[in-house]
Amino acid sequence: MTKALGYAAQAATTPLAPFTFERRALRPDDVSIAISHCGVCHSDLHQARSEWEGTIYPCVPGHEIVGRVTAVGSDVTGFKPGDLAAVGCLVDSCGECPSCGEGLEQFCDKGLIGTYNGPDPDFGHTYGGYSDHIVVKESFVLKITHPESDLAGVAPLLCAGITTWSPLRHWKVGPGQKVGVVGIGGLGHMGIKLAHALGTEVVAFTTSESKRQDALALGADQVVVSRDADQMAAHLNSFDFILNTVAAPHNLDAFMALLKRDGTMCLVGVPAEPHPSPSVANLVFRRRQLAGSLIGGIAETQEMLDFCAEKGILADIEPLAIQDIETAYERMLKSDVKYRFVIDMATLKQAA
Ligand code: NAP
Ligand code: ZN
Repeated sequence: MTKALGYAAQAATTPLAPFTFERRALRPDDVSIAISHCGVCHSDLHQARSEWEGTIYPCVPGHEIVGRVTAVGSDVTGFKPGDLAAVGCLVDSCGECPSCGEGLEQFCDKGLIGTYNGPDPDFGHTYGGYSDHIVVKESFVLKITHPESDLAGVAPLLCAGITTWSPLRHWKVGPGQKVGVVGIGGLGHMGIKLAHALGTEVVAFTTSESKRQDALALGADQVVVSRDADQMAAHLNSFDFILNTVAAPHNLDAFMALLKRDGTMCLVGVPAEPHPSPSVANLVFRRRQLAGSLIGGIAETQEMLDFCAEKGILADIEPLAIQDIETAYERMLKSDVKYRFVIDMATLKQAA
């Protein structure tokens, strides 16, 4: 086993603080990665503070992990020490059920193994990327083809990128379609970039008028302040697809009414409290669909990383010292993130 240094929440109400723990000894199919950067997802906040309930403490969050391979097990063929590598939201699955067979490990019948707060036979539960290194099975490690200088901006692709890419691909959005992205935070800003890169007309919905210029620069064709009823009404019955990333309960009907006949709104935000129940009439009269989507499988994550490398797509980030993680969480709660905090793991040494 190797000793790891990280930041952990010890309880729902205490701030994250330095924490030492152990990573497993390298198995034949394992890759050990020195973490250079880790993105800060709103899911980290939800779970560190047990807003979804069921968090197991100590909790080391972090599932937007990039870094360099330091060691590989004897059976590993795809990575060697020195390679750039990434780990996203899951580190294992049963490998045998129909979903795993289709490369949809996130929907594993026996339950995906999350990068943190997942079951772990050796240590009770898994520990995530707010740490100096991680040991992961080769089949759950992603390859990075972006240049090394882009690593910080690549990190958020491992959750914010794939969580928006997967539904855009599943619902086959493309040229000629009008796509809405609701909430311009970590996920939403990637949703705008990816929907734009896929050739759609993109409309960004925000509660923050101050994000208008940014949204246009990210690739939106139009920006709607969702609290302005007139701006919303101008888009009634016009969308093929809406990707809703909002992290708080809100009125879904306001967005459902903007879908065309047979249009779909896909929820990816997972608020701690339920949304008000949507109107049935809004669904049945135009055969509209309300759907959800969870992160993405490993093959699809690699596809997204390769697409982004080819198109030069990165997340817009604010570099973060790990000591400032609680400040980052508070700013996230105020929708004040431009547009993803990414921890520079070199700052962890100051905590040692
Ligand atoms: P984030 O960076 O905090 O962004 C969320 C955005 O939602 C905010 O920037 C804000 O955008 C908008 N918003 C926040 N509160 C709102 C409110 N009360 N009413 C309307 N809009 C509001 O969060 P994130 O990291 O992108 O994550 C978003 C959600 O997705 C979280 O619940 C997270 O747990 C979840 N998530 C789900 C998956 C999945 O697999 N389904 C994966 C990752 C994350 P504006 O300022 O533009 O309004
Ligand atoms: Zn996430």
